[in-house]
Amino acid sequence: MARDADDQAIKGAYRKLALQHHPDRNPGNHQAEESFKEAAEAYSVLGDPQKRSAYDRFGHQGVSTAAGNGGFDGAGFPDLGDILNDVFGFGDVFGGSRQRRNRAQRGEDVRYDLEISFEDSLRGLTADIQVPRLEECGRCKGKGAEPDDGLVTCPTCRGRGEVIYQQAFLSVRRTCSQCSGRGQIIRRPCKECKGDGYLRRERKLKVNIPAGVDDGNRLRLSQEGQPGANGGPPGDLYVVLKVKEHAFFERRGNDLHCTIPVNVGQAALGADIEIPTLEEPYRLKIPEGSQNGAQFRLRHLGVPPVNGGGRGDIYVHIEVQVPTKLTREQRKLLEQLRDTLPVENQPAEKSLLGKVRDYFM
Ligand SMILES: [Zn+2]
Ligand SMILES: [Zn+2]
Repeated sequence: MARDADDQAIKGAYRKLALQHHPDRNPGNHQAEESFKEAAEAYSVLGDPQKRSAYDRFGHQGVSTAAGNGGFDGAGFPDLGDILNDVFGFGDVFGGSRQRRNRAQRGEDVRYDLEISFEDSLRGLTADIQVPRLEECGRCKGKGAEPDDGLVTCPTCRGRGEVIYQQAFLSVRRTCSQCSGRGQIIRRPCKECKGDGYLRRERKLKVNIPAGVDDGNRLRLSQEGQPGANGGPPGDLYVVLKVKEHAFFERRGNDLHCTIPVNVGQAALGADIEIPTLEEPYRLKIPEGSQNGAQFRLRHLGVPPVNGGGRGDIYVHIEVQVPTKLTREQRKLLEQLRDTLPVENQPAEKSLLGKVRDYFM
């Protein structure tokens, strides 16, 4: 695809893809989840000019190293092979490689909860987040031991990483429990990381949040999770959005709903009221004789379409307020009004109850 291809068109295409493959729409479908991750990642790259230029120059790798990092409380997905090996010792029984403890492992995925305002969710924003994550200790290169003589050969397995048991006629290999299969143990822990091999660092990161995101949406930042082990790639960082509630707008899909109170006079005679929108306030003309519950639709002033499709609408619901405290003069005027209005106190037909007129603007 041409490097200077129309950004909007590309973004639109990825949005559509992400929507199509969103995990919420494809529960349990791993293919869809992978496709979603890729589309979301491509989208996040396109949304960030810095990332994009890195991506264009270096590809995938450029992006993951140009910006840094991730945080904790991440729920990792353990490798199934590891589970089988550790629980059932399959690798040992079948003479599995004794180096398996040292093979490359992908880092854990990390979840970061980010609360944003309702307005920001509609307009989009670039958020600066600070995410704690583990980084390999530079002093010991992740080994956890003092560089020169911190490591010694494991006395239990004599460096082989495994021990062999004789069970009946079966000879069973087991990973050495003292060194966890590494063949070496730490004699002098690294002074820098106290033997962990990792250091906890706060990393700053920019997250591009597209306009129109909803509560619970997840953004994936590829390879910004915990570092991998033994040269494995880092995990991913998932930013999970929490959108604060708005004072008077309620979101339903891509539509926004609000309730505007009007007094009896305004409802009967009509009124001009100002409705706040994402852009300029909208002057809504309420026609005379508007009933309680009347609904007005302001087309294409709702939520921008992050998931494809068109922009939503704003629905204004009218609530006619009957005055409860009257001055002497107001009471007199209302009494005059009452005496001139026709009295219709017969029970209304059921089918008419709750009927609301829609006005389409
Ligand atoms: Zn260290
Ligand atoms: Zn050992």
